[in-house]
Amino acid sequence: PLDTAQLQALDRKHHFHPFSDNKALGQEGARVITRAEGVYLEDSDGNRILDGMAGLWCVNIGYGRKELADVAYRQMQELPYYNSFFKTSHPPAIALAEKLVEVTPAHLNHVFFTGSGSESNDTVLRMVRRYWDLQGKPGKKTIISRQNAYHGSTVAGASLGGMKPMHAHGDLPIPGIVHIQQPYWFGEGGDQSPEEFGLQAAKALEDKILELGEDKVAAFIAEPIQGAGGVIVPPSTYWPAVKEILARYDILLIADEVICGFGRTGEWFGSQYYDLKPDLMPIAKGLSSGYLPIGGVMVGDRVADVLLEKGGDFNHGYTYSGHPVAAAVALENIRILQDENIVETVKAETAPYLQKRWKELADHPLVGEARGVGMVGAIELVADKAARTRFDDQGTTGTLCRDFCFKNGLVMRAVGDTMIISPPLVINHAEIDELIEKAVRCLDLTFEAVRK
Ligand code: PLP
Repeated sequence: PLDTAQLQALDRKHHFHPFSDNKALGQEGARVITRAEGVYLEDSDGNRILDGMAGLWCVNIGYGRKELADVAYRQMQELPYYNSFFKTSHPPAIALAEKLVEVTPAHLNHVFFTGSGSESNDTVLRMVRRYWDLQGKPGKKTIISRQNAYHGSTVAGASLGGMKPMHAHGDLPIPGIVHIQQPYWFGEGGDQSPEEFGLQAAKALEDKILELGEDKVAAFIAEPIQGAGGVIVPPSTYWPAVKEILARYDILLIADEVICGFGRTGEWFGSQYYDLKPDLMPIAKGLSSGYLPIGGVMVGDRVADVLLEKGGDFNHGYTYSGHPVAAAVALENIRILQDENIVETVKAETAPYLQKRWKELADHPLVGEARGVGMVGAIELVADKAARTRFDDQGTTGTLCRDFCFKNGLVMRAVGDTMIISPPLVINHAEIDELIEKAVRCLDLTFEAVRK
């Protein structure tokens, strides 16, 4: 086996990393993760690291579940690949579709399979436009999204997303996608109460619909809780007002459940947490707990009735749509979530404990707010607690804190100066205590460093 220096040298030479400063990486060397078990990663130097992010918000059932490896092995021998194009199908895709209809809200009775969350969001873009075409309203094309949203890295995914640094690479967004304010009270709420601000953020949707004309707007896309944008937990007034606006102007709701789905909020889907009835629901990540790449779009009856009956043909699909091995693994992942009552345990025990401990961090002198729902949390690093001001607008403090975390055996993510967690759903109370202790140590180290 190669040692860390050899691995890093090879990595530097040939590996072009996503979302990384490849030049800086070339000098520093990547951190090489070699194995994982439960909620812990191990790197190539043998360090044990608590994964507070479940990979990229995806390893919901934790690492090292042999059942998933066994299912993949068996399926590879039985039927390693076949497609679902041209009126063909296979048992794993059929079984997974049935299971997804069982675990998702009642009005979602069809699934279109994809290979990832990004592909799922490309798919919804085409589905909503096709829907309105078939309804005789081809002018309804524009999709309203939110600033700072993340909906993937394909051209449509990055366009639906509202991240300026992503738009800068590749001349995005593509036409027909516009962005409105996110319901980020801590950063943008000013003197308003969270409830007042929630209504203002919802009103930004109505203002945009009126500006464009309701006959031009196809859909609104949003995560129930915005994840990569900084775990933006919307004020309680936000979703009820948004739902009312969408109903008033007959605009479809796309609830991107790529992060919120499969137990993250303590409900099976974030849409259930906020009582949403999405017309389309992109899923990925927790669908297979990240063990194999697979995604999908759950299609509500209103859209399915039109696309499947009136439309018939849908000229769209991926080689790996419903990939048999990925589908079999996803099905086994859902079996584990169900048989071990993982989502129910999150709601009754794990999430209340995690949130109680996480919110204690608000007492730290560096922390302006600690918030969270279910198994996601964010803390805001500030120079001045009362005024909610930052040290700078470059996210330097967040990066510093994230690096301290890495060195001290904890993965936390930094979005600017917002620190984020999204651990595996199976984390136990002792591991939550360890996560909090390590977070406090790293906040102390960061506080010392920025005070100098
Ligand atoms: N949508 C959301 C809300 C996400 O968080 C992500 C990925 O982080 C995506 C879509 C894209 O998923 P993928 O990386 O599987 O393409």
